Amino acid sequence: MKTEKKPFVYVDHAATVPITDSVRAAMEPFLTTTFGNPSSAYGAGRASSRAVLDARRRIAAVLGCSPKEIFFTSGGTEADNWAIKGSAFANNLCGHIAYSAMEHHAVLHAAAFVRRFGMDADEIPVDSDGIVTADAVDASMRDDTRLAAVMLANNEIGTVQPIAEIARAVHERHAVMFCDAVQGMGQIPVNVSDLGVDLLSLSGHKIGAPKGIGLLYIKEGTALTPLIDGGGQEMHMRAGTENVASIVGFAKAMEDAAVMPDMTRIRQMQKSLFDGLRTIPGCVVNGTCAQEKRLPGNVNVSFPGLDAESLVLHLDRVGICCSAASACTAGVSEPSHVLLAIGRDREEASSSLRFTLGQRNTMDEIEYIITQVRRMVNQLYAENRVS
Ligand code: PLP
Repeated sequence: MKTEKKPFVYVDHAATVPITDSVRAAMEPFLTTTFGNPSSAYGAGRASSRAVLDARRRIAAVLGCSPKEIFFTSGGTEADNWAIKGSAFANNLCGHIAYSAMEHHAVLHAAAFVRRFGMDADEIPVDSDGIVTADAVDASMRDDTRLAAVMLANNEIGTVQPIAEIARAVHERHAVMFCDAVQGMGQIPVNVSDLGVDLLSLSGHKIGAPKGIGLLYIKEGTALTPLIDGGGQEMHMRAGTENVASIVGFAKAMEDAAVMPDMTRIRQMQKSLFDGLRTIPGCVVNGTCAQEKRLPGNVNVSFPGLDAESLVLHLDRVGICCSAASACTAGVSEPSHVLLAIGRDREEASSSLRFTLGQRNTMDEIEYIITQVRRMVNQLYAENRVS
């Protein structure tokens, strides 16, 4: 009997993307022949050290800053933790920090950490479209606010924040502006001076570099305590033998990402997917659909009453890889903090699906997704009615 091959429709580009050919080629020598420790004084070590220096210089050129302001980390999570905790320690855990209610858990949990150790930490509200306004940030600032954290683009609903305007409001209050730009890089321009930020985090695996590499931009003069002690790597700010191959790959991915690809086709697929899903009974669209305020490939919808995690597993069975925008605990989806922040109720916030599109997706795949989601949702709603 002839068995049909299961399709593979990858629409989870916000989760991760594969390493690109150009990145792999750039990394190859540093995985094999050029393996010296950058701290070693002999030639093989110096070759690795030069590669790290060169990567730092090229990344700084992409971000519009000085190489001295780029610090490699193990990824976006570490960079977010460093920004929040490093800033809190630099202020002796005194004063206040403000962070948007839709930040990544790396920021939210780091803020909870500094709160446990005595610092005040408050959420900045998000509007129903998924936007943090400069006015909302200003209203959340106190005289003793040391740092404000607002992400460039949200990882669940893809909404893009007016960071330059927010940074001006934060600086008027003499606080440090931190921006998690992990989800913006490669899709919208990321230039630290245009954004006006003091701290900015990035992750390699969202843009075609390996998992386990990221960076924190630290504007010269910004007070930040190192979190990882040991050798003198990363200008005495982050100890540990450098992940040379990944750093080299990250630099290549950053350069590739800076040459912004044409997003017209992705925008068209995004619109078709939204239009198609909207015709399914029960569908609720999450976040603004205004193109200039949403990342090109992000589609996020809820089907109230259905469980997000089981929707994802149902779609996996028909070859569609997407995300539930909520965490699963013991088989039951916890409501998404992002959706709660934009005013969705718990049922809506526990039943969302996130599709994030990439250059390789096709219109045929979009139609396949709509057909499969419709079939699944109709069936699950019918079963719920019967039971
Ligand atoms: N910040 C945002 C907005 C993210 O989307 C992610 C990952 O999904 C991270 C931080 C964490 O990055 P990493 O996976 O490199 O730790």
